[in-house]
Amino acid sequence: MDDVRQAPRKGKQVFTGRDMKRFGGGVRAGKRPVELRGIYIPHNKLTAEMPTTVMPLPKQIVLPMQQHVGAPCVPQVKRRTHVEVGQLVGHSDARMTCDIFSPVSGTVRDIRQIHYSDGRSDEALVIEPDGEQTVHESVVKPEISDYASLVQAVKRSGIVGLGGAGFPAWLKMDADLSTIDTWLVNAAECEPYLSTDYREMIEHPDTILEGIKTCLDLSGIPRSLICIEDNKPKAIELLRELSADDPRIDVFVLPARYPQGASRVILRNVTGRSVPRGGHLTDVGALLFNVTTMSEIGRFLRTGMPLTKRRLTVMGDAIARPQNLEVLVGTPISEILEYCGCAPGPRKVIIGGPMMGTTQVELDVPIVRQNCGLLAFGVNGPVVPRQTACIKCSRCIDHCPIRLSPIDIHKAYVARDVAALDRLMADLCVECGTCSYVCPSKQPLVQSTHLACAMLRAEQRKAKGRR
Ligand code: SF4
Ligand code: SF4
Repeated sequence: MDDVRQAPRKGKQVFTGRDMKRFGGGVRAGKRPVELRGIYIPHNKLTAEMPTTVMPLPKQIVLPMQQHVGAPCVPQVKRRTHVEVGQLVGHSDARMTCDIFSPVSGTVRDIRQIHYSDGRSDEALVIEPDGEQTVHESVVKPEISDYASLVQAVKRSGIVGLGGAGFPAWLKMDADLSTIDTWLVNAAECEPYLSTDYREMIEHPDTILEGIKTCLDLSGIPRSLICIEDNKPKAIELLRELSADDPRIDVFVLPARYPQGASRVILRNVTGRSVPRGGHLTDVGALLFNVTTMSEIGRFLRTGMPLTKRRLTVMGDAIARPQNLEVLVGTPISEILEYCGCAPGPRKVIIGGPMMGTTQVELDVPIVRQNCGLLAFGVNGPVVPRQTACIKCSRCIDHCPIRLSPIDIHKAYVARDVAALDRLMADLCVECGTCSYVCPSKQPLVQSTHLACAMLRAEQRKAKGRR
């Protein structure tokens, strides 16, 4: 790994976590140490060297109308309508939303409510595939002439933040570019178990670079840094080699430390900049996109096919055949578990990674476009730890990547003290789970910060409404 970081490319500056060089406001700001808060977690990326396999067509597709941050889409088709691959089936006139496209050709059998384990419910189309996979006539390579037409094309692509956030990609691109000098590509993939971004870098570096180059060409942003943790030396080598002909693009190597991929953390560790409270990355001159998102943009620009598939890392001790599996968006997780040989009655099923994923109770819910992992654990899987009294060791504070005080937020939440939550800046929590992971007394810290954040935001909205 060190060899990779220490091997500079001829004629090109190499930026690494080790040599600690950073940018600041367009001018290199000298040496500052890369932030080493957060924690080392065993990576368990046992599927990393397994090439992606493709799951056969599922028996049915369940396509929720809310697969993104923002307003839910409204179904554009009725029961018994025949749909084709890439056909628009969900749309909203709201600004913050993202269109939804059919991943199969087949018949809409039902439009019903589905219920998630976290209490949310959503309207979903149930589509029965006809096995033909006929592509809809609207799927054509987009015509791009400038940045505005690129943004409009991405708006019609159904691409959202594929690192898990689900923020509409076009909306993030539709920023005031006059102050932006860095297009960051988040390829840290710091969650244990997951290796979907890694496989994208190994299998499709061409579409990643095509997406980045097109965005740089049309936006005029002068540089892009692909930020990769040092536990992925092959991806670092490959992307360095393939981007050697473009001086605007480079690879920034980061220490493998959780949660390196959280947007505020990666921004600070790569550029030395911090996002002000209530602000966005664009306020400090940066845009940040997940590496698979960039690859999907590159692929969409080549083919015009909207986002209808997802690569998932399927792992866990209940899974007989762990793998990186390409599935159609809307495939029920029960079918994926069956395909991968999941033992009956897994003790715990998680969509996403073990740190930030959500536990599933109902297994008939579908995979949506921002999901990147599916974990199933059996008898040797995680157990709910016994909680004991806080021993005031301050580990939760020492390791919080955002420098919050999780134990104080927990106490303020229990006391329903909104003023204290505001003082403690609970709304900055990225819900990485680091505090809960390191706490020896197993306080429910991430759960409290999640609820505290919701409580504080609700109060802030109320206060805004009163003004
Ligand atoms: S308080 Fe939030 S950001 Fe800090 S460690 Fe806990 S979950 Fe992560
Ligand atoms: S890590 Fe746990 S025991 Fe230590 S101060 Fe924080 S809440 Fe208390």
